[in-house]
Amino acid sequence: MSYVGRFAPSSTGLPHFGTIFSACLAYQDARLNDGEFFVRLENLDRARCTVANERALVQAMAEVGVVWNDLIDQTVQQIHHAQALTELAIAKRLYPCRCSRKDIAARCKRAADGHYIYDGLCRPSVLGTLEWTSCEQAIRVALPEDTVSWNEFVRQQELVKNFHPLSEFGDPVVRRKNGEVCYQLAVVVDDAFSGVTNVVRGRDIAPATGLQVSLYNLLGLKTPKYRHHPLILAESKGKLSKSSRSMSWSELKLRYPKTLLDVLHLVCPTRNFSWDVVPALDQELVCGKKLLLRPV
Ligand SMILES: [Zn+2]
Repeated sequence: MSYVGRFAPSSTGLPHFGTIFSACLAYQDARLNDGEFFVRLENLDRARCTVANERALVQAMAEVGVVWNDLIDQTVQQIHHAQALTELAIAKRLYPCRCSRKDIAARCKRAADGHYIYDGLCRPSVLGTLEWTSCEQAIRVALPEDTVSWNEFVRQQELVKNFHPLSEFGDPVVRRKNGEVCYQLAVVVDDAFSGVTNVVRGRDIAPATGLQVSLYNLLGLKTPKYRHHPLILAESKGKLSKSSRSMSWSELKLRYPKTLLDVLHLVCPTRNFSWDVVPALDQELVCGKKLLLRPV
């Protein structure tokens, strides 16, 4: 099967160094596999996503040499999200959840990463086929009991991973009370619609992979193969984040042009690339602070 890869940044903030690093790795993997590559701007959150952020993202990626076959605006995918919700409703998998965060925190167990594992209390009130469109509550999807599996690349190896989403995650919210479709469903529908075969993304999203595979299975869609890359961390060991004070790409570039290039040169699209170089990038310095890559 031919390779279709993607990079799907959210435009809730300006691109930071981690965004560009991730874009380079996703693009490099597509190049290594002679594949197609596209960029999808994740901008469903209209309150926080701005056109200025989208422009800055596109400009930063182009500057380092990332080239895409297509640029997709996620808002045009909304009709597919609605179709997926209808399919899940036909399969009697959707139910409204009236539990507040406080109820859930008081009642449910916590997973190792801190999220609450929803206990399925509201499961019995199944939504009818089109009832989801007028539902005024958050909507959850009843996951099957099955263990799911998928293929995951770790450096040069392709491994099979197994996960039990129901006990590790619980039924996820797929549509919020305010009508927004949640990331976990949108990413599955969007990637499947574009025929994505390989997903390369930061390891912060890795814990949700099993949950997403379960949604692929429920919707009868083909699961892509995954590769999760190390994150670039701030000196505090915290994640570089758009919402924290980590510097944006444009600020970094102005203040530390040479150091940035030194860090990027191993993954930069103008160079030959191998996944073997990635874990070696663990002691680079940017803006006088140490940037660490969490080992794979
Ligand atoms: Zn509930």
